[in-house]
Amino acid sequence: MKEYQDKTIKCVDCGTEFVFTAKDQAFYEEKGFTNEPKRCKECRLKRKNATASKENK
Ligand SMILES: [Zn+2]
Repeated sequence: MKEYQDKTIKCVDCGTEFVFTAKDQAFYEEKGFTNEPKRCKECRLKRKNATASKENK
């Protein structure tokens, strides 16, 4: 099994540094995601909500 280490990534939207935890990295790999997250949780949530509200209209 692969070993992961917590990683700090800077959000491309707000510039906040957030931690991409070892646990999250394992989760991403398990889901088959090859890209690291580029945005902090808050910005991802905002984008998700923005997309969702667009689709509803
Ligand atoms: Zn952000």
